Amino acid sequence: MTYLADPTRYDARSDGTATFRRTGRSGLLLPAISLGLWHNFGDGRPLETQRAILRRAFDRGVTHIDLANNYGPPYGSAESNFGTIYAQDLRPYRDELILSTKAGYDMWPGPYGQGGGSRKYLLASLDQSLARMGVDYVDIFYSHRFDPDTPLEETMGALDTAVRSGRALYAGISSYSGERTREAAAILRDLGTPLLIHQPSYSMLNRWIEEDLLDVLGDEGIGCIAFSPLAQGMLTGRYLDGVPADSRAAQDTSLSPDLLTEQTLHHVRALNDMAAARGQSLAQLALAWALRDERVTSVLIGASSVEQLDDNLGALDHLGFDDDELKRIDEHAVD
Ligand code: NDP
Repeated sequence: MTYLADPTRYDARSDGTATFRRTGRSGLLLPAISLGLWHNFGDGRPLETQRAILRRAFDRGVTHIDLANNYGPPYGSAESNFGTIYAQDLRPYRDELILSTKAGYDMWPGPYGQGGGSRKYLLASLDQSLARMGVDYVDIFYSHRFDPDTPLEETMGALDTAVRSGRALYAGISSYSGERTREAAAILRDLGTPLLIHQPSYSMLNRWIEEDLLDVLGDEGIGCIAFSPLAQGMLTGRYLDGVPADSRAAQDTSLSPDLLTEQTLHHVRALNDMAAARGQSLAQLALAWALRDERVTSVLIGASSVEQLDDNLGALDHLGFDDDELKRIDEHAVD
């Protein structure tokens, strides 16, 4: 059936959806919760489930969808599947969407597709991504990782070209250290293409950006979109009673069940109790916590069902924390 987006998708609601935050000192607003297609959008997942999640997200004001060249499996399939659904459902809404993709990890055979940050790889990969997604441009193009073997000037030069050639509107970097981020920002500034955003990992179980990165992003006016804010599902109710057969830990190597140690589960259970005391699910607590610092523009979640997406968006109902709560959370939000 023809998709018509919910006409109330941007209305201020008591459930807090359609909450937008400024990306650093740029003009771009992003939804506080964005949706990533790393998992659950490959060829092994029913297209109708993918479509239902994407429609629901857009209907609830999630305007930002994040991709990368190698999301799947197989590589490229998340972009292709998104492209199919985009052509059928979302194309009329292109100007309401922020679409991003990335290049940095291995993608195709031979020396030019093995990842890294060369100009050759980045621009060829971006052209392939645009073709798979069926769009003329992406809103944000990322260097997916710092490449110690390529001069940073070359990688940033490729991002600048992506923007100047109209293939991307903004430039981003992912998982760069604070120091490399400063260097990248300076190079891009000189080129005349500001660095819009950094995409680091960040969650209650992974707090490196508080030490190394957030001050740099704040100083430089760069936005921050935190990936895996639920620690791939560990900061939800998913693993409180074992490892379900349909879960990521059971099905995918990206989340090893070995990470679910007794010590981690002890912290997760304590956080779950605190969430219950606030009238939230654990996932909602984890997302609200990751958004407590205004330098974090958006949290980038994954979802394998509409129910998970809805649960996560419910975080926006209750974002605030008092000092006492934050102190008690600190005892259990440990790397
Ligand atoms: P999350 O930490 O949000 O983990 C998502 C997974 O957690 C889901 O697939 C699901 O697992 C489980 N989950 C989510 N919500 C709930 C819920 N309410 N209740 C129970 N379980 C839940 O993020 P991801 O690790 O998926 O990463 C999100 C996005 O970040 C990616 O899609 C990608 O866009 C980006 N990313 C970027 C990286 C980079 O290098 N730049 C690296 C990694 C991610 P299950 O499948 O078990 O149901």
